[in-house]
Amino acid sequence: MPADATVFPTQHFASDNYSGICPEAMQALNQANQGHDFAYGDDRWTAEAADLLREVFETDCEVFFVFNGTAANSLALASLCQSYHSIICAETSHIETDECGAPEFYSNGAKLLTGKNVAGKLAPKSLEELITRRSDIHYPKPKVVSITQATELGTVYTPSELLEIYKISKKFKLKLHIDGARFANAVAALGLTPKEISWQCGVDVLCLGGTKNGLAVGEAVIFFNKELAEDFAYRCKQAGQLASKMRFMAAPWVGILKNNVWINNAAHANQCAAQLEAELRSIPEIEIVAPRQANSVFVNLPPKVAHALEQKGWHFYTFIGGSARFMCSWDTRQESIQALVADVKGAIHG
Ligand SMILES: *Cc1c(COP(=O)(O)O)cnc(C)c1O
Repeated sequence: MPADATVFPTQHFASDNYSGICPEAMQALNQANQGHDFAYGDDRWTAEAADLLREVFETDCEVFFVFNGTAANSLALASLCQSYHSIICAETSHIETDECGAPEFYSNGAKLLTGKNVAGKLAPKSLEELITRRSDIHYPKPKVVSITQATELGTVYTPSELLEIYKISKKFKLKLHIDGARFANAVAALGLTPKEISWQCGVDVLCLGGTKNGLAVGEAVIFFNKELAEDFAYRCKQAGQLASKMRFMAAPWVGILKNNVWINNAAHANQCAAQLEAELRSIPEIEIVAPRQANSVFVNLPPKVAHALEQKGWHFYTFIGGSARFMCSWDTRQESIQALVADVKGAIHG
């Protein structure tokens, strides 16, 4: 990796899932690794993690832990609709572009209908158009709206934007799902409480990301609309998502949910991205694309710069929205930001 890769173990900006496990999660994992406990989620760690989620969301809700985001989203969506229904999402959404058809697969054929996005957010007008376009029996009946918070383009829905989506969903009796792989980043960016951008905005189910926040593995599926959780445990089991030694997936959640660690982790990532954005903005040859609100910075790099960075060992994705994405995580360090910025400058002037 980068020139002065001497200072440390290497850090990347390709994605927040390049990072490791945060200390609080690791410590809880170690604590859970003592003696025996019940399997398949009947252990005390799983109970405590679920209780902590009810506490931080300040409501009674049903909680399930699964291995990854694709399963969380797909199984949650499958529980909201029948095979002849449709799920409306932004054309940029992870469920559309990055889950290999898993939502359709797990729902036995429910169809994703993609709406226009504005900076990664589903445009309300497009949502309503898709819902009302047809009402005949030949069209898969719209049943769910799925949005991502924070979005794939690093933007964040405000509560009033969420309420606007909710109003439309409610008008047409659609359920509301949030892909919250980076929900904590949205909470931190908005400076609000988790409930203010979830169930208070009519969200039925939230898939809450743990992996990108500092866990080794694991996402939580949170049903605010508890009736929808009926039989969800069977879905998880059938899909191979029921961990037998569940305590090792749950304990790290306890580690990050206590003392606001998850929000602090996300806030750190957001702040690092803000700093990276500011540094890159000062370079005239670099164009910042989407407005940075969470922990990613999207930039248009001149091809020669992109090439030079790759030569230096920097990894970054360019398939999301066509520009280069640099993403910060809970552990991003000052010297890593400086090293990246120095290499960008070097590539321009070199
Ligand atoms: C990372 C991510 C997920 C989860 O992906 P998995 O690789 O299946 O864990 C879901 N949604 C979004 C927006 C993501 O960025």
